Amino acid sequence: MPLGSSWGESWRCLTTALDITDRKAAEQALRESEARFRAIFEQNPMAVQIVDAEGTPRMSNRAWTRLWGRGLAYPFSGGASIPKALGMDTHLGQALDGQSIDVPAVHVPAQGRDTPERWVHAHIYPIQGGGNIIPEVVVVHEDITDRKRIEIDLKEHTERLQRQYNNLRALSEIAALPSAFGAAQQLTAALDLGRRHLCLTVGQITRIEEGISTIEHHSAPPEAKIVDGTRIDLSEMLCSLVIETGNVLALPDLHRSPYANHPAHHRHGVESYLGAPIRQRGRYYGTIAFYSSQPSPRGFDEGDIEFMRLLARLVGSVLEQDENRRDLAQSNAELEQFAYVASHDLRQPLRQVSSYVSLLQRRYGDHLDDTAREFIAFAHDGAVRMDHLIVDLLEYSRIGRNTKPVDAVDLSLAVAQATANLSAALIEAEGIIEVAPDLPTVRGDFTDLVRLFQNLIGNAIKYRAPDRPPIIKVSSISTATEHHISVSDNGIGIEPDYFETIFRIFQRLHTPDKYEGTGIGLAICKKVVEQHQGRIWVESIPNQATTFTISLPNRS
Ligand code: ADP
Repeated sequence: MPLGSSWGESWRCLTTALDITDRKAAEQALRESEARFRAIFEQNPMAVQIVDAEGTPRMSNRAWTRLWGRGLAYPFSGGASIPKALGMDTHLGQALDGQSIDVPAVHVPAQGRDTPERWVHAHIYPIQGGGNIIPEVVVVHEDITDRKRIEIDLKEHTERLQRQYNNLRALSEIAALPSAFGAAQQLTAALDLGRRHLCLTVGQITRIEEGISTIEHHSAPPEAKIVDGTRIDLSEMLCSLVIETGNVLALPDLHRSPYANHPAHHRHGVESYLGAPIRQRGRYYGTIAFYSSQPSPRGFDEGDIEFMRLLARLVGSVLEQDENRRDLAQSNAELEQFAYVASHDLRQPLRQVSSYVSLLQRRYGDHLDDTAREFIAFAHDGAVRMDHLIVDLLEYSRIGRNTKPVDAVDLSLAVAQATANLSAALIEAEGIIEVAPDLPTVRGDFTDLVRLFQNLIGNAIKYRAPDRPPIIKVSSISTATEHHISVSDNGIGIEPDYFETIFRIFQRLHTPDKYEGTGIGLAICKKVVEQHQGRIWVESIPNQATTFTISLPNRS
């Protein structure tokens, strides 16, 4: 390379060249990497912030600003409340110690109007620097507020449904309480179930009359010291409010209700109360209420109010049934009285009439003309018919008065007994009776069931066709739930128009001169069958055949 000392001479030149291709490439790569990082950082839908070891945010992406706003630019210093809620103070320290932290759902309560309540899924992880130093951590927040709200809605919905279901279950358990219990036991059991279901200490049914409330039924732990029959002035009881509004009153926390000054609260210590009005035969009877000396642990919702409404209806109908039962017992007693009068007081003069008519016929029959003798015969027949009528009426009123059908009755024996009682009539009519060998055994009253078959077989003999001897068949078919027992004949039959009416008392299709009878036989049959929780009906082809079928419950 020539180097000269002056112009014109040849020059020498020293050139040093530094190859910076690699550096340029590295710079280019850095720029590209930086651009890539920027793109990922900024466009990331998750909120990302980089925080230094002092807890000072270095970079926040757009999603972060959208989520937390600019106000959170330095959230980790100065004990700001949102980062506190996020637990950042501890998490940051852990991340700076090298741990990666994942918090699936952090609840951040609303901070004024601009920052609504949120839920985030937070990840915090360290950025490893050289020499094991962690100069910065990355905080990533995924906004899961919408998902969380749906989850909460769903949870509330499910809880509400669960409560509705529990309400329904409790109600159906109450409704299914055996009626054999008797009203008092049934109502106490209902109160028992109700107070456990509503998580309240006391349940009580209160009758309200002329400003006084009387506890009629209750369910409570012994320490509550509640006594049935206790009378309390209505003004001291919350039930007065229930009756006033005619609606369910739900006070989960009396202290914080408009009734904090009510005597029930400050004198009797009631803290939570749920009561509903009971109506009986269209009038207010009183209330059913549950209460406790603590605020309700679970509050009351619409479902509980509906539960109370239905429960009050149920209680109303149990009370009504009880009153009906008492009315019925009363009218049965009156009927019994009537039966007594009928049997002793009515039959006695009747016997007198018929014996004097017989005497008249015996002593003076020879002196009377044919017409007078005919009149005497009519009078005698009338007296006999009247006696039958009274005996049948007595029988009708007797059925089901005292006895409950509880014995196991072999129907073959009942039919055999009925047939034996009718043997004279059967022989006279030259009838045949065929009884299937497999008649079932049912729960019932033997005497009443004999009476039932005696009436049906007796009618089959009585209403036989004039041109053929009666053939009577007794058979049965059983299903899992019912026994069907049929008594069929080949007699005169019944027109379909009368299939219903013949079961009513005194309903007859014939005059006594054609067929003897009182029109009470089938009414007795119906009463016996109903007493046994069964049904009876007839099918017939006039002038050909009649079948009476009885269905009785199969309780085997
Ligand atoms: P009664 O036999 O005393 O008239 P019931 O109550 O036993 O009273 O019967 C009512 C009516 O039903 C009878 O009057 C008769 O007309 C009709 N009836 C009952 N059983 C039969 C039968 N097996 N065949 C035809 N008619 C019948």
